[in-house]
Order: sequence, then C-alpha cells, then structure tokens
Amino acid sequence: MAPDHGFPGHMTYRGRFAPSPTGPLHAGSLVAAVASYLDARAHGGRWLVRMEDLDPLRESPQAADQILASLEAHGLEWDESVRFQSQRSAAYEELLTQWRHAGVIYPCACSRKQLNANQGRHPGQCRDFPDWHSSEPVALRFAVPDRTDHWNDQLLGPQHYQLQAEIDDFIVRRKEGFYAYHLAVVCDDIDQGITDIVRGQDLLELTPLHLLLYETMKEPAPRYSHIPLVCNNQGQKLSKQNRAPALDDSRASDNLVHALSMLGQKPPAELYRSLPDAILQWGVDNWDRSPLVGHSNAVTENAGRNGHVHL
Ligand SMILES: [Zn+2]
Repeated sequence: MAPDHGFPGHMTYRGRFAPSPTGPLHAGSLVAAVASYLDARAHGGRWLVRMEDLDPLRESPQAADQILASLEAHGLEWDESVRFQSQRSAAYEELLTQWRHAGVIYPCACSRKQLNANQGRHPGQCRDFPDWHSSEPVALRFAVPDRTDHWNDQLLGPQHYQLQAEIDDFIVRRKEGFYAYHLAVVCDDIDQGITDIVRGQDLLELTPLHLLLYETMKEPAPRYSHIPLVCNNQGQKLSKQNRAPALDDSRASDNLVHALSMLGQKPPAELYRSLPDAILQWGVDNWDRSPLVGHSNAVTENAGRNGHVHL
C-alpha cells in the first residue's frame, strides 16, 4: 500500500499554494488558495507560495507578479520566500540523473503520430530498448510499474487504482528540455518539507503518480485533501482556457466571503463588510472540513454569490 502519511505526528504542518503563472487568479484559484491557507493556519502550520513556472511558452513574469499582488490584496500572507521553479533546474537535473542510474526513466523519441497509432499510449519499445545516445531530441519517461494499489485522501477516503492500466509511462522532461509538472511538484514538495497538500480534484487522478515518485525517492508522502472544483454555469472548470474572469482585487472582501461559501463554510452576513484580514481570521477560527468530506462534485461559481452553498 502506498504510504498514507509518513511524517511523524509532531512535525509542524507545512502547506502550500502552487499556481502556474499562466494568467491572473480567478475565483477557482482563489478557492484553492483560501482552502490551503485556512487548513494550514487552522493547524498552526506554515503556508508557502510557489510559482510553478516551468513553461516559458505559456507563462509570463507579469502573471506571477499579478498573482502575488492579488494574494496580498486578499490578505493571504505567505511564510518564507516565494519559490520559483524556473530557478530549480539543477535540482531537477540531479533527480533525473539519480533516476537514470536507478533505471526508472528512459529516453523516448516517439512522435505524437506514433502515440496516436497506439491509442495514445506509449508503445513499449523505448522502454525495452532505451537508447541514451540518440541524436534526436528525446523526452524522458518514467517507467510505471504494473500493480494495483490504494491510498487515502483526507476528504474523499480510500482511492483504488491500477497503475499501469490507468497511468501511462509519463514524461518527466519534455523533448524541448522543459521539466514536467510531476517531477517538479514532487521534488519541491519534498525539498520544502510539505506535509499537507490541499488542492483541486482535477489533480486527484494524478496523485498515484506523485505517490509513486515519493516511493521511488524513499520519502514520506504528504497528506492529500482534494477539494471540489469550481465550475462556470456551463459546468466547465474555471480556467484561463475557459476565459474565467480575473479576480477584481478591489473587491477582495467579497471575493473572500464568496470563496468561504464555495468551501461550504457559513460566514455570517456582517463579514461582508469586514476587511480581508478579519475575514481570513474568521475563516481560520471557524474552519470546518466536514462539508468537503466525500464531496466529489464540482460547485458552480455563481451559486455562492447570494448566500451559502449547500455542499
Ligand atoms: Zn517512446
């Protein structure tokens, strides 16, 4: 069984919010930030912010600044300095070297066309006959073992999965040289001593893959809590691709009370007139995970605007 949570009980809670700077924060990303912040503070823990800026083609330095300014405007003060993954290449490269020596990754020159011809899954030949001296640009893939396993989400309970059937050999470094999310997220969560991860349910299915990396690195896995996604009226997850509107920082109090409602909290009406710090303090003092337990449906963005969301 993948470790449920390997940290000693006395270890201080360390949580984090780790956005990709592909655009400004929107109502959905605020909900994720607020949930991780409140859970950390309610446990007397620390809360870090990390920029997952691994893809310069999709990201901009302005977006990172904008996100940080937006968090500050909402009173979401982080501990320690903000980490930028774009500055972590040496650590990722070192990890890849270790994995290469351990035989858990292999080079892959397959084209999209070849993958499509194989129902989108990676064919076995690169894995079985790795060519580390290819003159072509290669991606590096992680060789996923074939086994059934389970793990426990703090909110959603036991999760069962079959590794190779559900998760293809995934890329850890792309042909263009960019490091993949899975490599970087686990490497930095370990390096930063993160004990608790509160994030959106879009990442639930990827968690077994992250647990596999913890296991490979013989590191204790964090506790995971996957929270409901925020969707627009068409049922699409709020995202930059779906043109989710940027948060209006001048309405920080409204946004925060709304985010609390989306998380099933019951902020009193007078809180709407409070400043962000007071709203967050109320959120910490009254943080209740129970509305999120077993809640696997998305919540609709506008539902919380004029009252409480009944999760
Ligand atoms: Zn291949």
